[in-house]
Amino acid sequence: MKVLVIGTGAREHALCRSLSQDPAVSELHCAPGNAGIARVAALHPVDQLDGAAVTALARELGADLVVVGPEAPLVAGVAEPLRAAGIPVFGPGKEAAQLEGSKAFAKDVMAAAGVPTARSYVCTTPEEAAAALDAFGAPYVVKDDGLAAGKGVVVTEDRAAALEHAAACERVVIEEYLDGPEVSLFAITDGTTVLPLVPAQDFKRALDGDRGPNTGGMGAYSPLPWAPEGLVAEVLESVLQPTVDELRHRGTPFSGLLYAGLALTSRGTRVIEFNARFGDPETQVVLARLRTPLAGVLLAAADGTLGELEPLRWSEEAAVTVVMASEGYPASPRTGDPIEGLDAAEADGASVLHAGTRSGPAGEVLTAGGRVLSVTAVGADLAEARAKAYAGVAEISFKGAQHRTDIAAAAAAGQQLP
Ligand code: AMP
Repeated sequence: MKVLVIGTGAREHALCRSLSQDPAVSELHCAPGNAGIARVAALHPVDQLDGAAVTALARELGADLVVVGPEAPLVAGVAEPLRAAGIPVFGPGKEAAQLEGSKAFAKDVMAAAGVPTARSYVCTTPEEAAAALDAFGAPYVVKDDGLAAGKGVVVTEDRAAALEHAAACERVVIEEYLDGPEVSLFAITDGTTVLPLVPAQDFKRALDGDRGPNTGGMGAYSPLPWAPEGLVAEVLESVLQPTVDELRHRGTPFSGLLYAGLALTSRGTRVIEFNARFGDPETQVVLARLRTPLAGVLLAAADGTLGELEPLRWSEEAAVTVVMASEGYPASPRTGDPIEGLDAAEADGASVLHAGTRSGPAGEVLTAGGRVLSVTAVGADLAEARAKAYAGVAEISFKGAQHRTDIAAAAAAGQQLP
C-alpha cells in the first residue's frame, strides 16, 4: 500500500512512524512534513490547504490511501477532490468537518443527537455576550466559533476579560463551566461503524499545575488508571455513535477520526468539544499503544468496511509524551534555533516525534514552530513511561526550550482524579 500523509506536526510524525512499521505499507509519503518525518517518509513541498495540488500529488504517487492529519485542510475541503478522483481518504469532507470548524454547528448536532454537553448561547454582539455571561455566572467560558488551533477558548473568573475575548471574535459560543477531569477519546469511523480507541488525557495549559494560557497541548498520557470502568462503552453509546448517526442522517456522513473531548463532571459525562482529526499530542501516546497495524484500519474507515475488521489490539504498557516548546510559546514563539541531543534521547529509549522542526543547510535540525518536539516513551506503568520520557527531554536542548514537568505526575502517583 502506498500512503500519503498530509500535515507537518508531531501527530503526523506519530502517524508516519506507525505506518512505516506496518508491513502492508510499501511506500510512505508526507506533504509537507518536517525534519523528523523525513527520516521515515519521502517529503513533498505541497500546500496542504490546496485540494487540487494534494490530489495531483496523490495521483502522481499512485497513493492507495491519503491520511489528512490537521483540521485546517479538512475544514478547507481537501478531502472532496481526493474522493472525486477515486482516491481513498482518511478524514471527513468539508461539511462533516464543521463538527470541529464551527462550535455552533457542533452544538446543533449534539442537541439533535441528544449528546450531553454544556448549555450554551451563540452570541454575535457585546450585549448578547454580556447577557450570556451573566446567565451562567463565573467561571466564564468563551469560545471563538471558528478554528483557532486550540487557542480560541478563554476560561476566566474575570468578567471583563471574558467580554474582551468575546469582542475580539466575530461569533462566540458562551457556555456553562464544566467541572471535573478531562478525557480525550478518539474513535475511528467509516460513517456507520464506530471503533473507539483507548482514552488519553492531555495538558492544555502552558505551565505546571495547569496555569498559564491554553496551548495546542503540552503533553499526554494513556491509559488513565483513575477513569471509571465502562467509560469507553458509555461514551460510545451516548456520544460517539449518536453523533456519527446524526451526521449520516443529515446526508453528510463523517468518516475519519472523531475526537471527543470530555469532562467527567459531578453530573455525568459531558462533551467539551469535538475535533475532526487525531488529537495532538494524544495521538503520540495512543498510537504508541496500538498493536494492530495502522494502515488497514485507516483504509477500512476510508473504504466503509470498518465493520469487517477484527477488534483492535492494544499493548498493556503505558505511554507518556512531553512537549518541548520554543521560547515565547504560545504568544510569540521564537524559531530558527539548532536542536541538540536528538540521537542521545532516542538512544535512551525515548521516541522523539518532531512537531515544528526543519532541516538547516548543513543537515542540522532547527526549531520551526511553537511546539517543537513531542518526546514519547512507553513503560510497564505510567511512572516508568514518564521517567523515560523525561530522561529523553533532559538530553535535548535548544535556546529557550520550555516544557511542563508534571505531565502524568498525578496519575503516575495513583491519584484518583488528576
Ligand atoms: P476546547 O478548544 O473547546 O477544547 O477548549 C479548550 C479547553 O478549555 C478545554 O480543554 C478545557 O480545559 C477548557 N474548556 C472548554 N470548555 C469548557 C467548559 N465548558 N468548562 C470548563 N472548561 C472548558
